[in-house]
Amino acid sequence: MDLSVPRGINSTAQIDAKILENILKIQHTLLYSDKQLSELLQVKENELKRIFKKTRKLKVTELASLTDALSLSIESFVLGDLDLVAIEKHSKGQLDYIPERYTQAGQSRIRSALVYFHFIEQRLGWWVLQSLMRKFQITHKAIEDPNTLININFFKDITELLSKRGLESSNFYQIGAHSYEMNKNSEFSKKLEISANPTDAYDRLCYELKNHIESNSHYRILRQTPTTIEIESKDNPDTAQALKLSHLGNPFVCQYKAGFFSRGTSYIDLPSVSVKEIKCAHYGDPSCIFEVNIELANKRWNKTH
Ligand SMILES: [Zn+2]
Repeated sequence: MDLSVPRGINSTAQIDAKILENILKIQHTLLYSDKQLSELLQVKENELKRIFKKTRKLKVTELASLTDALSLSIESFVLGDLDLVAIEKHSKGQLDYIPERYTQAGQSRIRSALVYFHFIEQRLGWWVLQSLMRKFQITHKAIEDPNTLININFFKDITELLSKRGLESSNFYQIGAHSYEMNKNSEFSKKLEISANPTDAYDRLCYELKNHIESNSHYRILRQTPTTIEIESKDNPDTAQALKLSHLGNPFVCQYKAGFFSRGTSYIDLPSVSVKEIKCAHYGDPSCIFEVNIELANKRWNKTH
């Protein structure tokens, strides 16, 4: 979890002040009386007054009572990145509301977020997943429909958080490969299962991505030989403009894509193939290019068809 301290904060007194400031923001947003707020913090009303006068410190267990009640992360009180609109909507029972940061220009399906959530739950534990969902202010209700749209910022943020927790490029490749488990019975899968051969599977994959997975990038086959296929991924300029970003995603998202492409052959019952990103927009290239090693897949296909 990102515990970096925001700029301008360099002492525990400032952190305490920031936490109190955020508690007050929540009190005003949710129109809590002092009595309601003290109950949520599990302190007496006169103690709450002392806390706000700074003659008594708020204990972390008391803050945790409030964050548990509202399904928020403690870190967000320190970092001050709470989405107050989401807090208000969730408190009114609109649990499928997703913070605007993750819905503006949404071009990905929640199904891809579920790939990350499943991986995190299996490899890091449900408590890590819970803390991440609280951090992102995304509820279980919000992820019920896998076709709900979510934007690329979500994938940028989750990969950066996971990277700070120690995940490496190879882990993001594994997560991308895991996407096959989520997609194998979907409409996307049906479009690929009827491919005429491995190269056709990648042709269809590039075409169907925008219809069923995401359209943050435009995908096309740039070059193909009997042993390799090069897939280009280029930012969708409309999305980049809407999100005011010069590049969408980050190198971790690219590794996820490489892992995703490695399973293109799985849709036609062939083992996964190796994929390398040979050019990357995040390192100065005009677009990201992935090299798919299709040699073994072709050999195996030709033997059985
Ligand atoms: Zn890249």
